[in-house]
Amino acid sequence: MNSVSPLEPREIFQDWVTLRIKIEKWQIRDDFAFTVRVKDNNRVDYICRINGCDWRVFASRNQQSEIQLKILHERHSCIG
Ligand SMILES: [Zn+2]
Repeated sequence: MNSVSPLEPREIFQDWVTLRIKIEKWQIRDDFAFTVRVKDNNRVDYICRINGCDWRVFASRNQQSEIQLKILHERHSCIG
């Protein structure tokens, strides 16, 4: 199983959908499921569906109002 992230730390996205599509492709490739913990106009917080897993992607608007990746924990503690 390839665990290399398709995302770059501090990556900037044109819109929320672009980020979500990348994460959806990632979940299919690596066979896990994510859930949305927080989503509003300024931030989104994706976590692994398995309780207690370390995997997390958090993005929010920066000072230029761009959507920017702020937290990227690409390793799953749930699947080793
Ligand atoms: Zn996980």
